[in-house]
Amino acid sequence: MSVLLLADVDNGVLSPATARIVSAAAQLGPVDLFVPGPPAAAEAAASLAGVRKVMVNANSLLADSLVATLSGLAEGYTYLVSSASSQGKDVMPRLAASLDIQPVTDIIAIEGENRFTRPIYAGNALETVSDPQARHVLTFRASAFRPAAAAGPAPIEALENTIQSVVAFIAGHRTESDIPDLSTAQIVVGGGVSVGSAEGFQLIEKLGKTLGAAIGATRAAVDAGYAPNDWQVGQTGKIIAPDLYIAVGISGALQHLAGIQGAKKIIAINSDPEAPIVKIADVVLIGDLFEIVPKLTAELEKL
Ligand code: FAD
Repeated sequence: MSVLLLADVDNGVLSPATARIVSAAAQLGPVDLFVPGPPAAAEAAASLAGVRKVMVNANSLLADSLVATLSGLAEGYTYLVSSASSQGKDVMPRLAASLDIQPVTDIIAIEGENRFTRPIYAGNALETVSDPQARHVLTFRASAFRPAAAAGPAPIEALENTIQSVVAFIAGHRTESDIPDLSTAQIVVGGGVSVGSAEGFQLIEKLGKTLGAAIGATRAAVDAGYAPNDWQVGQTGKIIAPDLYIAVGISGALQHLAGIQGAKKIIAINSDPEAPIVKIADVVLIGDLFEIVPKLTAELEKL
């Protein structure tokens, strides 16, 4: 009942999502990781609790060669696993097809060795599926699991690159930021369209900076040009599961709520006591965000 896990490596660094997927996968059996990245990423992976062995290929591989590599390694593993990241969404369905296995994707809870819970209908319902296949191809939603603790180090085995990719990597465009990663942040401050402008969004960013939080936004705020695309939270944005989500001037439309269901506590700042977000929030501050947010930030800065 062992697990072969494809690690996520971002810009040469092991993605924080991998530690979360390791803790999920370790519930199924001992975990061997394949790391498509540099030795430093392999060393970070080897220090996670639950990892038995790390295999590393220093070339950053593209989907077709990742599938070929994983197919070659798959023999003897009951579970072939990755995060439901863009890499996981690219690689795992191809791998499943090549092995003639029906994948189970976007798992948020493990109920048993072949029973998994996953959201459907944009997070409006959860289904528990039984997977009767002898081998399983699975993707996990990283934000639903706690990161694995530090342990090890597990042994690291370097693999030779024998597979020729037919896909060429042309270019990548990256946004540099010192703000925590939205998908894995413990605190997120989200702003809605009522913030009114990109300049107004600096209020949200200042509050976020005081708390060491990541910044999120509604689609309405993104569409209005107040916040960048990669801040969008919700059905068509990022799925987050912070310990604390502060929703500032956000109505709580179903499509936004689909992205914040994993939040442990929600504070809503809204002028409308009837807003849907108010009904699900743990703490509600009714009033004008332009008065409340600067005051809250100033008080927090004193701490
Ligand atoms: P509004 O709904 O306009 O709410 C603004 C809120 O601010 C109100 O509650 C109001 O009371 C409050 N307010 C106004 N002024 C103040 C003030 N001065 N102080 C305090 N509070 C104030 N949305 C997402 O967020 N993420 C998604 O992924 C997403 N995907 C979608 C996919 C589809 C297919 C569709 C159709 C829609 C999607 N949407 C998504 C859009 C969604 O339906 C809502 O339109 C959007 O979430 C609303 O954003 P908002 O809360 O900023 O704006």
